[in-house]
Amino acid sequence: SIVSDVVPMGRVVGGVGRVPLGLKRKQLRVLVTGGAGFVGSHLVDRLMERGDSVIVVDNLFTGRKENVMHHMANPRFEMIRHDVVEPILLEVDQIYHLACPASPVHYKFNPIKTIKTNVVGTLNMLGLAKRIGARFLLTSTSEVYGDPLEHPQVETYWGNVNPIGVRSCYDEGKRTAETLAMDYHRGMGIEVRIARIFNTYGPRMCIDDGRVVSNFVAQALRKEPLTVYGDGKQTRSFQYVSDLVEGLMRLMEGEHVGPFNVGNPGEFTMLELAKVVQDTIDPNARIEFRPNTADDPHMRKPDISKAKDLLGWEPKVALRHGLPLMVEDFRQRIFGDQA
Ligand code: NAD
Ligand code: UDP
Ligand code: UDP
Repeated sequence: SIVSDVVPMGRVVGGVGRVPLGLKRKQLRVLVTGGAGFVGSHLVDRLMERGDSVIVVDNLFTGRKENVMHHMANPRFEMIRHDVVEPILLEVDQIYHLACPASPVHYKFNPIKTIKTNVVGTLNMLGLAKRIGARFLLTSTSEVYGDPLEHPQVETYWGNVNPIGVRSCYDEGKRTAETLAMDYHRGMGIEVRIARIFNTYGPRMCIDDGRVVSNFVAQALRKEPLTVYGDGKQTRSFQYVSDLVEGLMRLMEGEHVGPFNVGNPGEFTMLELAKVVQDTIDPNARIEFRPNTADDPHMRKPDISKAKDLLGWEPKVALRHGLPLMVEDFRQRIFGDQA
């Protein structure tokens, strides 16, 4: 069977896994829901590189086949077009549950669908984990802290969330998903892991998903003004995608349930971010102010002491180093061969 196959441990990258070099490690069967999306596809790359057998379940709402195309010919890879709101029967060892639209534009597009994905979708994946005894990792979000009254945010903070606002389908949905994961863990003995992911950027982000980094980068490349919402003094902390993937894998392989903040503590106002984008792409890019959206959190910055202590993880890629890597990908996708 696939499970008894082995791969040389030397191919494991980044220190995930505890088997010393030279020893054989059991090949795992890993399900990645949302694996055709931005974060999911980078995770899939790492798991494939490690020698695992990977199944992606994705309805392609915001994900793209192009993101995983390079694995299609590999017999260890399989992609199933499926909506996690419907039950599914599979046999795997680990489940990384990422399926959920992540940008405000996408999750507000059909808020009821977003709630169903977060609640029914997560319930189904936990039911699956229970039936097959798989370990389950939930990708929750810093949005569970809402418009935080504590700064930086520590995992013990319970948050300040509007239950009836336009972002609620996402943040309350993720809060319920966390509750479900904890109840399956406590009540059914399921091995769960919870990551609270802070704003992440990198290659393969949707170009027009309305998130601030993708907007600014695409705008600067297209010689359009950078749209700063509100006064631009609100803050976010931006994590490069490879740091996130490393954190998720360490969490999955480790012994701690969490929740863990996984983010880069470097904090920037939107005006400071605009400056970094100008410095990276076009010093002459203009800035245009626009009204802000409802319920926009004023500040956000992770306290990552817990992940440092218990997972030995911390981000390595600073914004000024990660941004150019994303710009190259965007340039290619926006201008194609003319770039
Ligand atoms: P993404 O939109 O690129 O990826 C989400 C994937 O899930 C897409 O491929 C989409 O097609 C798929 N999907 C959505 N609904 C589905 C459904 N009902 N059934 C099956 N597949 C479905 O977003 P991302 O940035 O890669 O985010 C991945 C996960 O990380 C999400 O759960 C998101 O909430 C979480 N997260 C991301 C960030 C970030 O900054 N990127 C921050 C916090 C949390
Ligand atoms: N489920 C699934 N795949 C499985 C097992 C369960 O999709 O392999 C779904 C199942 O349809 C249900 C949910 O997961 O809607 C929760 O399952 P659980 O067994 O925990 O609860 P129950 O089915 O008893 O309500
Ligand atoms: N934002 C902005 N210009 C844009 C898009 C977003 O100034 O073109 C702001 C937005 O108001 C918010 C911050 O950037 O304060 C981060 O927004 P994003 O949608 O990227 O992520 P989230 O709000 O989910 O953290």
